[in-house]
Amino acid sequence: MSAVQASEPFTERSPWETAREQLRRVADVVGLDDNMVNVLLECKKAVEVSVPTRMDDGSVQVFDAFRVVHNVARGPSKGGIRYHPAVTLEETKALSMWMTWKCALMDLPFGGAKGGVVCDPKSLSIRELEGMTRRYTTEIINQIGPEVDIPAPDVGTSSQVMAWIFDTYSMNKGYSVLGVVTGKPLQIGGSVGREEATGRGAAFCTREVLRKKDGRDVEGARVAVQGFGNVGYNLADILSQWGATIVAVSDSTGGIHNPQGLDVRAAAAHKRENGGLAGFGESDDVTNEELLALDCDVLAPCALESAITRENASEVKAPIICEGANGPTTLEADEILEDRGVLILPDVLANGGGVVVSYFEWVQGLQEYFWKEDEVNDRLADIITRAFEETWRIHEERSLSMRQAAYAIGVGRVAEATTTRGLYP
Ligand code: NAD
Repeated sequence: MSAVQASEPFTERSPWETAREQLRRVADVVGLDDNMVNVLLECKKAVEVSVPTRMDDGSVQVFDAFRVVHNVARGPSKGGIRYHPAVTLEETKALSMWMTWKCALMDLPFGGAKGGVVCDPKSLSIRELEGMTRRYTTEIINQIGPEVDIPAPDVGTSSQVMAWIFDTYSMNKGYSVLGVVTGKPLQIGGSVGREEATGRGAAFCTREVLRKKDGRDVEGARVAVQGFGNVGYNLADILSQWGATIVAVSDSTGGIHNPQGLDVRAAAAHKRENGGLAGFGESDDVTNEELLALDCDVLAPCALESAITRENASEVKAPIICEGANGPTTLEADEILEDRGVLILPDVLANGGGVVVSYFEWVQGLQEYFWKEDEVNDRLADIITRAFEETWRIHEERSLSMRQAAYAIGVGRVAEATTTRGLYP
């Protein structure tokens, strides 16, 4: 029975079920045997910890937290840490699996991991956030390390949070360990270009797909961006510098729309001053649902998972979707969009720029030798463009969707490494 029949009750798959089903589907394409599929369907390790934290009023709040490693066949695991009320172990497992494929698609010597704390970081004071972060780091201290598992920022975490993780780990070791975490502030071993890297990578992919699919440049392309944080803001900002018209942006409180184009930096300043985008001059307020259905050339979901579902997929008008977020399109929505001929730049490709520059930061930290911004951006362009070209070629040669093609490359590389290493013992 098709997963998209309208008469079914609303039982869309969770991100973890989606991630596993995506792997099963690509297994046939790559020709993986059942033994390999069974290995790759599971996470290598999942740690759940409680994080007691002293609050400003003297009480103690206990937060639930996770660190999950999906696979290390190609190197130490890598993946962000998320602070959000909706974090679950299952979601963290899905995100760790996607990290494995993404690192392999980018051809980095990393496996996949992810972490999260169930909390609302916006409701915590800086002191509470620091205390919680340092205790979380201590609880997972034996799981992480430069040769083991290297965290990075994700939703709700920042370079400051990475600085506290770096400091806590280093204090326990007795010396500074630059390679334990990426996304650090520049003054303590961060890399130039890391902050914008995910948005920049997504911008490179958008530029390439417009050239390949429509034979046109970014200039004049109309783009709507859902999510106005690290990924969404930087993508909108870079595309707008390249001459695109950013017709809409949104955050968790709602969005703004102007078919003539928004001043992205002014919108960001308005959000900083007012706590949201609503009321920004020369634009109409729109809901997140309305934003997804806007008339535009590229829609970039850059917030959370499952933004585009079978409920709203048929409303999407954009012929190209650039997945800045991880898992923003459910499997059911993917099928609807595919049937309609919408071209999706999948998350493992479109947002791979972040982990690429995280890799650069890790390399620079291990060597204690830091590169110039042009070097970082040029090498990022090389890697992302190569990954895009490889994915496009498989997409064309084998008539696969871009998602299937990207997965075929990523999963294929991990399977190859697993086979070559052999099963221990
Ligand atoms: P962030 O916390 O900086 O920003 C998230 C943004 O999404 C905020 O503007 C928030 O208001 C908005 N948002 C939250 N819920 C929303 C909703 N329901 N509707 C609309 N907007 C909503 O996080 P980020 O680092 O930009 O991450 C965004 C996505 O990109 C996540 O899926 C993350 O896993 C993925 N990602 C991030 C990086 C990175 O380097 N930061 C790298 C790869 C992938």
